[in-house]
Amino acid sequence: MAKYIFVTGGVTSSLGKGIIAASLAKLLQARGLKVTIQKFDPYINVDPGTLNPYEHGECFVTEDGAETDLDLGHYERFLGVNTSQLNNVTTGRIYQTVINKERAGEFLGKTVQVVPHITDEIKHRMQLIGKKGEFDIVITELGGTVGDIESLPFIEAVRQLQWELPEEDVLVIHLTLVPYLKAAKELKTKPTQHSVKMLSETGVHPDIIVCRTEEILGNDIKNKIALFCNVKPEAVIEAMDASTIYEVPLLMLREKLDVITMKKLGITGYPEPNLDNWKLFLDKLKYPKAKVTIGLIGKYIELQDAYKSILESFIHAGAMNEVKVRVLDIHSEFINEQNVDEKLGGLDGLLVAPGFGNRGIEGKILAVKYARENGLPFFGICLGMQMAVIEFARNVLGIKDAHSTEMNPETANAVINMMEEQKRIKMMGGTMRLGAYPCEIEEGSLAHKVYNSTLISERHRHRYEFNNSYLVQFENAGMNASGTNPETGLVEIIEIPEHPFFIGVQYHPELKSTVERPAPLFVSFIAAAKKYNEEKVGNKR
Ligand code: GLN
Repeated sequence: MAKYIFVTGGVTSSLGKGIIAASLAKLLQARGLKVTIQKFDPYINVDPGTLNPYEHGECFVTEDGAETDLDLGHYERFLGVNTSQLNNVTTGRIYQTVINKERAGEFLGKTVQVVPHITDEIKHRMQLIGKKGEFDIVITELGGTVGDIESLPFIEAVRQLQWELPEEDVLVIHLTLVPYLKAAKELKTKPTQHSVKMLSETGVHPDIIVCRTEEILGNDIKNKIALFCNVKPEAVIEAMDASTIYEVPLLMLREKLDVITMKKLGITGYPEPNLDNWKLFLDKLKYPKAKVTIGLIGKYIELQDAYKSILESFIHAGAMNEVKVRVLDIHSEFINEQNVDEKLGGLDGLLVAPGFGNRGIEGKILAVKYARENGLPFFGICLGMQMAVIEFARNVLGIKDAHSTEMNPETANAVINMMEEQKRIKMMGGTMRLGAYPCEIEEGSLAHKVYNSTLISERHRHRYEFNNSYLVQFENAGMNASGTNPETGLVEIIEIPEHPFFIGVQYHPELKSTVERPAPLFVSFIAAAKKYNEEKVGNKR
């Protein structure tokens, strides 16, 4: 039987519950325990797949094709263990299940209510992974902030589980903020006291309080929080702002979050955490030997979370190459013929990001052209790959009206076309080509060198594809399809062998990059950028 840890948040949102959950999970995993993390989100969307990135950041896609919250990306990057459809549940999905059961007559004439029917469904889902017997510990992050109307059924479900399951099998961690008032030169505990009080009013008392803070808490503050919030001082954990999220497991180690957690759950007999690989990674991250500048061309760049997995992949790949990757966000809407040289001139590599719809498209195409013509390392992901195809068609093949039917359904030259199986689909949620698919790689290609394999599997999220009726024309002119789906022939990778590093992929390699296994494409792209930078500097001398 698995034990359950619930992580709630108070005072404000964006305190980093996901990072705390992932850091604790890492420490427990590094001791030899089998741990997974799941997230329960209180919004009514059935999953975040239909959300605009401005709302909730990137949509993370799992191996089994679930469109999930971006925190699942952190869980995978920290733990190196795949999550699945079961690891992300929303209010929408809970209600949908309960309403479907009601329509099927499964409640036998009873009035269907939040308590017990909704809470029963929440409890059932909270224990689904745990009951499979694969994990010792299931950490559940509850989205939202204590006090929100919409989180109430989730908190109530936690209360009931705490009551139903053996005492040592359920633990509640509450993450709060201890603000520092500059004028008074003081840390303030009152918001934490109120937040714990509010949580307690719902019948759930936290076992451990983790305090986000900009300043060292000190024993006085810890004792005060302990006293007023009715926990032992050792259960008050300081979570200082860190220079990188990957530092947080070590901060939590120092604060003994894993020790108090195991004590409360009655877990004994596991050695001290082995974080050797983790520390090695952090050392490389902190002490880079060189620097490269990568342009990230996208239309959601105002919001860091929109390209979360890509940014994290750069961090992993940078450490692997022992370089600092400086990512320069470049808004595709503001790139034009006049400023493209100036905007992209200082770069060592160019990444054109995934995306949907028409906005900023022409800027992306101009950026690809610049990289292709100037030998600048280029990496296109999903829409970025599609833009590289359109650019090549227009400027090399001379097909001036080449386009994707996503942006121009009427184009006479649809080099990017909707996938056949997508044409019948009318519903938006969960209907793209999602999750892991195999890709066969041509021997001797750049992709082959990158992956050192002729068969790979990567995750997808798209509706459009390369139109194979143009393939011969492309290959004759110097753009090859070096990776294809072995069953359908769908083009997964394009590259230009003449160029030092020009590659576009229909899939999302960023979704599989973890601290201990960085995505090969990002590692090679950064290596190419490093080489480009060295040559550039060499030429100047
Ligand atoms: N909009 C494109 C498609 O649906 C690309 C999607 C993406 O970049 N994830 O095919």
